[in-house]
Amino acid sequence: MTTPGDASPELRAAHMDLPDRVRERAERLGEALPAYVYDLAGLDAHAAAVRRALPDVELYYAVKANPDPALLHTLAPYTDGFEVSSGGEAAHVGSVLPGARMGFGGPGKTDAELALHVHRMHVESPGELRRLIGVGGPVDALLRVNLDVPVEGASLTMGGGATPFGMDPGGVAECLGLLRGQNRVRSRGFHAHLASGLDAPELLRLASAVLEFAREHGGGEVNVGGGMAVSYRRPGERFDWDAYGKGLAALRGPGETLRVEPGRALTAYCGWYLTRVLDVKRVHGEVFAVVTGGTHHLRTPAAKGHDQPFAVLPTGDGTTGVSEEPVTVVGQLCTPKDVFARRAVTTVRVGDIVAFGMAGAYAWTISHHDFLMHPRPGFHYLT
Ligand SMILES: *Cc1c(COP(=O)(O)O)cnc(C)c1O
Repeated sequence: MTTPGDASPELRAAHMDLPDRVRERAERLGEALPAYVYDLAGLDAHAAAVRRALPDVELYYAVKANPDPALLHTLAPYTDGFEVSSGGEAAHVGSVLPGARMGFGGPGKTDAELALHVHRMHVESPGELRRLIGVGGPVDALLRVNLDVPVEGASLTMGGGATPFGMDPGGVAECLGLLRGQNRVRSRGFHAHLASGLDAPELLRLASAVLEFAREHGGGEVNVGGGMAVSYRRPGERFDWDAYGKGLAALRGPGETLRVEPGRALTAYCGWYLTRVLDVKRVHGEVFAVVTGGTHHLRTPAAKGHDQPFAVLPTGDGTTGVSEEPVTVVGQLCTPKDVFARRAVTTVRVGDIVAFGMAGAYAWTISHHDFLMHPRPGFHYLT
């Protein structure tokens, strides 16, 4: 199952420091684990700092990262709107925050979705624009471009080559032709979301390329997408919002509207998934800690193939366990893919609480909850 190469230090899970308020709540939850705990006070402070770093840029939140209503309410004062990718997300945001501005993106919109009244419809292809002119409107649209620019260091790539997301310059030219001679769809500018997991200099380089393309094709407002890096290996590192904000301010021309739509980098840090150790065992020399719950609640490590950073709270029996040894932390599912972290050097005993950090984005809602029919976790909010 494992090869000797797996034991390299880089593969060890990162240790997380647990904020006191999360620790206190974890200890009080007792038998009510597994559970998600959302640190809304922490999210509020983080969103306020991001907002301050982007004074002249519109900030949307990409709802697919985590649509939890409490998170949306916390983010609302700091955001200009929300990026949604389905009719379901649009209805959800409309009911949680009536009147909220929305940008609607995504490569497969149905006619019913194209007929929705949103602030901006992000057009993904000439075919979609033809349908939008037929069924939608009047509506304000942005053309989503997929420019042929190299993307370096990305964890996921949506552009810079052949992908189903957005249009190449040929597709944009076709759309500009379709937009002439009709008045149901007003073109307001351009949208791009080329990659995820990029640092500020790389995102600024892409933003500059997108802006240049936009200016050559009639200008207007430009949404340069999300994709700000989050490091699960170094949880203390943060995307450099100040450098990004300064860079965008320098790129923005007079009177231009610039917009960003981060998801992960806004909400990843506020979420904690708390579990309890059921068993610690040694199999063919490797130590496994089996915890309640699993990747059917927190699929992020399985989806991204990474180790989820965690902290251990010594609440257990103090006997059955290991001290400062490499431990592979797994869940209750009967599949070898149910792994949270591989060979993390830690001290862990039966009954201890394991708190997985960075579980606030692409976590619960991307998980296959019904696989094996274990109970669902509780949800708790720290204000
Ligand atoms: C998913 C997505 C985002 C957010 O991406 P993050 O990596 O979470 O910041 C923004 N825009 C679009 C179009 C997306 O699909």
